[in-house]
Amino acid sequence: MQFSPAEVQFSSAQLSSAQVQDRRRPRQGPNRRRLRQGGRPPWHHRAVIRPQPSELQQLVRDLHRQGTAWLPAGLGSRLDWGPPLAPCEVVSCAALSGIRDHNPGDFTITVAAGTPLVELQEALAPHRQWLALDPPFSVGPAPGHGSIGGLVARGLAGGYRERYLGVRDQLIGLRLMRADGVEARAGGKVVKNVAGYDLMRLLCGSWGSLGLITELTLRTMPVPPQRRGLLLSGPLEALLERLAWLLRSGLTPERLDLWSPALAAAAGQEEAPLLLVGLASVHGASLDEQERSLAEPSLPGSGALAMRRCETELLASLLARGQQAQPNSQPSSAPDQAAAAPADPAAWLLRLGVTPTRIGELLSDPALAALPFNLAAGSGLGLAWAPAQLPAPQVQALRRRCRALGGQLTVLRQPPPSGPGAPLPAWENAPAKAMIEAVKAQFDPKLQLAPGRLPGVAQPSLPPTA
Ligand SMILES: Cc1cc2nc3c(=O)[nH]c(=O)nc-3n(C[C@H](O)[C@H](O)[C@H](O)COP(=O)(O)OP(=O)(O)OC[C@H]3O[C@@H](n4cnc5c(N)ncnc54)[C@H](O)[C@@H]3O)c2cc1C
Repeated sequence: MQFSPAEVQFSSAQLSSAQVQDRRRPRQGPNRRRLRQGGRPPWHHRAVIRPQPSELQQLVRDLHRQGTAWLPAGLGSRLDWGPPLAPCEVVSCAALSGIRDHNPGDFTITVAAGTPLVELQEALAPHRQWLALDPPFSVGPAPGHGSIGGLVARGLAGGYRERYLGVRDQLIGLRLMRADGVEARAGGKVVKNVAGYDLMRLLCGSWGSLGLITELTLRTMPVPPQRRGLLLSGPLEALLERLAWLLRSGLTPERLDLWSPALAAAAGQEEAPLLLVGLASVHGASLDEQERSLAEPSLPGSGALAMRRCETELLASLLARGQQAQPNSQPSSAPDQAAAAPADPAAWLLRLGVTPTRIGELLSDPALAALPFNLAAGSGLGLAWAPAQLPAPQVQALRRRCRALGGQLTVLRQPPPSGPGAPLPAWENAPAKAMIEAVKAQFDPKLQLAPGRLPGVAQPSLPPTA
């Protein structure tokens, strides 16, 4: 066999933050020795295998035969999010890159899973098309990048889901490689293909626990010819009243981001609750009309709210700065500069969600009030950052609060526990835990993939050889 995987080192920042737990020593095997060519240190702490497309299947078959635990990965920008991993190999899709088919007339594109989202958007732009997804935000000192496969595997989306829905709704088909090296396909290339078992949605948000996604077909959208942002600020109560009106109205903003005062301040804005409304249309006149509707003096809370227009570039730059706001970032008054946010690798990163009608109750929670956080106001889903000093019981209290408000809290990143206790589980046990474990057993009977991580299961079973 010609297998000679290229090993790539992550940047030191990415590596130092990778939570790889030595719960048990990995066992040696002939293939593992071959993977560690040249006497390199055990890679599961320090390196990633980056097979060429022609090498991938044989590699996965070898790993399966040995029962070796491994983690499917994209560009490795956020492997440290979620529960700590048991020792395992990391198989990166970075070499699986490129557009395989773009059909502008059908608004579909088929791409290899390791293709960076930013490259895809650049390739679509000359056709006046785009994938209706937020750009990946920077993580620490690393630039904001991520692969389309990583994005789908995480299943998370930002503010554009207000109009365009989540990433799973933009997915038309995918190819994957199972843990045993068998290739499988779900969905198709045409938008109307919805027949059969919805394997795509299972893989979307699976965090690498069910298989390695190798190729994706996605729906593209026309770029709206006219865009405009509106910034509404003022007391929370008045802002929520306007938001409720907006959600009931016939207006269909592209995005509706609700920022906490701390996030607004970190992005160089006044330290007050801020609602960022992104409007998009074919005609400028329609934007004028929507803006007038939102500024109507008879609307609730009108006297208390300030509304400013914000052109597209400024809105984009503000959103980028909001995405980067870490608890230790320095407020800046220059709105057109990307925030120089020195990321605290030990800080908490929390994914919050509540029933949209109960957003106000969440926002007024004292545990959250002082933190930088944003919520996609239409969906009730958002992100919060917190300094490493925030005690874990406070995060647990916030988690209970989200649950009481019809939602949940996922711990994406957390500092090492200060005492002898275990880290907080990233996910609580979902009501469908038994079903999730049954699906996992079908896809990955040897429990090789993403050992220690299974969305919806607080303490997943580990493979015997991990
Ligand atoms: C609220 C929220 C919204 C987000 N919205 C966006 C957005 O709109 N746009 C955006 O670009 N990013 C977004 N992200 C980041 C995104 O979720 C991913 O973390 C990022 O795209 C990862 O890219 P990567 O290639 O570096 O993946 P990695 O860091 O390498 O992997 C990320 C995860 O995906 C798994 N994985 C990666 N590739 C594969 C594969 N081929 N097959 C199976 N599993 C795989 C890994 O096991 C790991 O669990 C958002 C994050 C959050 C928290």
